[in-house]
Amino acid sequence: MNLTELDLEGRRALIRVDFNVPLNEAGEVTDDTRIRAAIPTIQTVLKEGGSVVLMSHLGRPKGVAPEFSLKQVLPTLERLLGVKVHFASDCVGDTALDVTQNLQPGEVALLENLRFHPEEKAGDEFFAGQLAENGDVYINDAFGTAHRAHASTAVIARFFPEDKAFGLLLAGEVDALKRVLEAPVKPLTAIIGGAKVSSKLGIIEHLIGRVDRLIIGGGMAYTFVQAQGGSIGNSLVEEELHGQAVSILEKAAAAGTELLLPTDTVATDAFANDAAQQVVPTNAIPDGWMGLDIGPETRKAFADAVLTSRTVLWNGPMGVFEMPNFAVGTRTIAEALARVTAEEEAFTLIGGGDSVAAINLLGLADQVSYVSTGGGAMLESLEGKVLPGIQAILD
Ligand code: AMP
Repeated sequence: MNLTELDLEGRRALIRVDFNVPLNEAGEVTDDTRIRAAIPTIQTVLKEGGSVVLMSHLGRPKGVAPEFSLKQVLPTLERLLGVKVHFASDCVGDTALDVTQNLQPGEVALLENLRFHPEEKAGDEFFAGQLAENGDVYINDAFGTAHRAHASTAVIARFFPEDKAFGLLLAGEVDALKRVLEAPVKPLTAIIGGAKVSSKLGIIEHLIGRVDRLIIGGGMAYTFVQAQGGSIGNSLVEEELHGQAVSILEKAAAAGTELLLPTDTVATDAFANDAAQQVVPTNAIPDGWMGLDIGPETRKAFADAVLTSRTVLWNGPMGVFEMPNFAVGTRTIAEALARVTAEEEAFTLIGGGDSVAAINLLGLADQVSYVSTGGGAMLESLEGKVLPGIQAILD
């Protein structure tokens, strides 16, 4: 399953990468993070004497559309790799084969946007077979789409029963997940935050019984507080989930998972950075006020829980971190993660969407053990689902 176990010499490695990058109106790449992330796998193949055929999707085109052409990422890719890259203006058929069949060891080719063909998302087997003709071995290095059973992410693996592997990026994600969900060094604490309970229910249910401590912060905490009879003013709430919230509290108690909710809150009377603020008990927020961050007592309790853990998973901010005056709780958690990583060699994983944005904003991304690259793919993994793109390699 590992890249280094493949025989790469003189062979063409067909690599599914995630080059779904943001472009400006001039068609220039404005954030090359995802392209940079694929470089180590590409260079490993080249070093082992192989050649590389890259395939990816870009955006959500309906049919062929020049504004979604992967040709636009070519200059960035060539700059980062330091070599010229061949481009095939279609990902299948003679146009692709003309480029990929003549590839020499050390050379790199990029295929046009996979989603110019509706068969990609449909997981069409014939199309996957056509794609497969472009390589001798198959490598999946696109964690961001691993939760989709598309032709290039899952179905294609059937055509390489002996010659398929995870790329280094995908292997890193799989390994990080294993270190949290399968073989964590204890105590294991999960911090779940963000706006909505509904989007994190699956994760919470999966983590109960697996983690020693489950911290629930952010806007979603108020649903739990109100479900227990607290007054939460105008704070974010999903009243229809009261029953679920109570059942989560009961399940956690039965499973021996310590569940921590915020005891105090930074409340405001308007959803604005410079609006008035007061610290109040989370279950006694005055009418007309809303909680936008965890309070000082909660910050300390949550940070203490992190600092006494040896594995920590973090998904979702503790407050409206986009506004500096309500970012203190999120920053405190991020700093505690950085500290426990440095001082106790804890394994700390930042998984998914807004907590990744928060740790980047705070400049602490290089001080935690692992920052996941996949939003939806990470969420589904934390719900305990085996992703089609990962399963296809394991099968
Ligand atoms: P999610 O996508 O569910 O992880 O939610 C992330 C969003 O939740 C961020 O944009 C935060 O601003 C928002 N958020 C976190 N805490 C609160 C809160 N107390 N009230 C309103 N929004 C919040």
